[in-house]
Amino acid sequence: MAIKVGIPRALLYYRFYPLWKTFFTELGAEVVTSQPTTQEIFRKGLKKFIGDTCLPMKLVFGHVITLADKVDYLFIPRLVSIEKDTYLCPHFAGLPDVLRAIMPGLPPILDTHFNMKKKGITMKSIYEAGKRFAKDPHKIYRAYQRAQEEYKKFLERIRDGVTPQEAIQAFNGEEVPPLKGRRERLNIALVGNPYTIYDPFSSLNIIQRLRNLGARIYTSEMIPDETIEEMVCALSKRIYWTFGKETVGAAFHFLDSEEIDGLIYIISFECGPDSLLKEIVDDKARGGKKVAYMSLVIDEHTGETGMDTRLDAFVEMIRRQRTKKVRIGEGVKQGSVPKRRLGW
Ligand code: SF4
Repeated sequence: MAIKVGIPRALLYYRFYPLWKTFFTELGAEVVTSQPTTQEIFRKGLKKFIGDTCLPMKLVFGHVITLADKVDYLFIPRLVSIEKDTYLCPHFAGLPDVLRAIMPGLPPILDTHFNMKKKGITMKSIYEAGKRFAKDPHKIYRAYQRAQEEYKKFLERIRDGVTPQEAIQAFNGEEVPPLKGRRERLNIALVGNPYTIYDPFSSLNIIQRLRNLGARIYTSEMIPDETIEEMVCALSKRIYWTFGKETVGAAFHFLDSEEIDGLIYIISFECGPDSLLKEIVDDKARGGKKVAYMSLVIDEHTGETGMDTRLDAFVEMIRRQRTKKVRIGEGVKQGSVPKRRLGW
C-alpha cells in the first residue's frame, strides 16, 4: 500500500500544490489533502492555538488536525525563502516546530528546509524532501523534473487568466468555467497574501462575490516578475518579504493601469507585514486618480453582510466613475493586463 502524505489545504498550498503533489506521486506516495476550509476546521484549529496570530496560521492548525489520522506523514516544509533575495514571514520557518510542540502525537512531519535566498532551490533540499520514498537520488531528481513540468502548466493556466484556485482545480481534473463565455464588465484586481485571497473561507469567497457583481478578476500572479521588480525598485527601501514585494509591486502596477477599474488590497488582521505595506499602497493610491481603491481587513469575525455592503458600494462607485468618463469623452478601454510568472 502506498505511503500517504498529507498536504494541508492552507498557506502555500495555493501556490505550490501542483508541484508538491506531482513530486510525491512520482515517488510512489499517495497525496491526501484536507477539505476546503469550514467553520469546523477553523474551530478545531482555534482550540489548539495559544496566543494571538493571523487567521491563515490559525487555519493551518485546523487543516493539520483533520488530516492527522488519515496520513502516514505530513508535509509541512520549513520555508525560509522561496526565491532569491527575499524571505517569507518568520511564521513559516517555525511552523513545523510549533505544530510538534502544540500537538504531540501528529504523524511524522516532513519539514524539509527550503532557503532559496542565495542560490535558488538546491539538490540537497530536493533529496531531503524525497529520501523517505526513494533512496536513488536520480529517481528523486526525475520526480522533481516531472513536478516542475506540471508546475509550469499550472503557471501557464494562470497566465491565461484563471485564478490560482481555478488552476489547481484544473490540475485536479475538475471543470473550470471557460474564460471566453464570461460576461464581466468591470476589471477588478485583488492583491494580498495568496492564502488569504484564495481560501474561500478566509476571504469570504470574495472572488465569486465580485464575479457575481460583474467583475473580471486580476491577481498579482498574472503580472510578469520583471514588472513587479520594476515597480518596487522605485521605493526608497527594499521589501524583503516575498508576498509583500508581490503585493506592493502588483498594486503599483494595477494602480497605474489603464485597463483596471478598481483595486482591492485584502489584509489579514494581525498580520505584521500587511500593516506596514498597507501604508505604502494607501500612499500610492492617494496620489493616483485612475483606479478606485479600497483595503479590506479580514479576520474570523468579518461578516458576509458587511463584506457585501462594501463590495456593492465599491462596484457602484466604479460604475459611476466609468459613466462619468464616457460622458466627458475619455471612453473606457477594454483589454487585459500583462501576464506572468512565479517559479521554483
Ligand atoms: S505574512 Fe502575515 S498573514 Fe502571512 S503568515 Fe505572516 S503574519 Fe500571517
